[in-house]
Amino acid sequence: MSKISTQKAFIFLGAPGAGKGTFSQIFVSKFGWVQLSTGDLCRKHIAQGTDLGKQIDFAIKSGKLVDDVVIIDMVSQWVDEHIKMAPGIIFDGFPRTLVQARLFLELIQKRFSELVVNVIQFEIPDSLIIERLSARKTCSNKQCQAIYSLLEQSTQKSQKNGICDKCGSVLMQREDDKSETVAARLQIYHQHAQPLLDFYKKNNFIIHRINAQAPLQAVQGELEMIAGI
Ligand code: AMP
Repeated sequence: MSKISTQKAFIFLGAPGAGKGTFSQIFVSKFGWVQLSTGDLCRKHIAQGTDLGKQIDFAIKSGKLVDDVVIIDMVSQWVDEHIKMAPGIIFDGFPRTLVQARLFLELIQKRFSELVVNVIQFEIPDSLIIERLSARKTCSNKQCQAIYSLLEQSTQKSQKNGICDKCGSVLMQREDDKSETVAARLQIYHQHAQPLLDFYKKNNFIIHRINAQAPLQAVQGELEMIAGI
């Protein structure tokens, strides 16, 4: 199995709605990085009605985590197909559990020659997450999944109401962004975040705490500085 020469990586660790997807999409469009979003991959499977999609549909709709084995298979396949020569890679919403983090470490040791991994911990109060997710709209085109906000003060509004600026598809609210599911997702995030941070510390990953309440430009600037761009 050949080694991959991509040298920079972010692991985005943060509650749903903290901004992981938004900043991933900025790094993809501005700097040609690649984004591995296990959430996006799961949603694509569901939209395409694959066997895997049928198997994970319930977990996603109810805000629970998908089985580690399923996620790890997805990630290995994605790495084989997508990374190649990208200047950087963002792991968005992966690893989510200690089992995934251990396998992630094995994967980068086996597949990457000199990858510098920065863990980005997005800090934001739950009350703000609830407000953001209730106003979040996502592109219904599963190949796009661009993210928008209806919040008055947001810089992420779509130009045409309810339509994606990038591909023209209709915007919708994700099933799991509905208030009854958000509480479960937040609880799961908090349960796993500290053990993951402890694991990263023990394995000498560099961890950066980011104030995810700051304006988009400020957070973007901080991320670019960390990435050395
Ligand atoms: P996200 O788009 O990252 O908020 O993920 C949406 C949903 O997909 C989560 O609530 C989980 O049900 C599932 N999911 C995404 N990534 C993972 C992962 N790494 N491990 C387990 N489940 C995941």
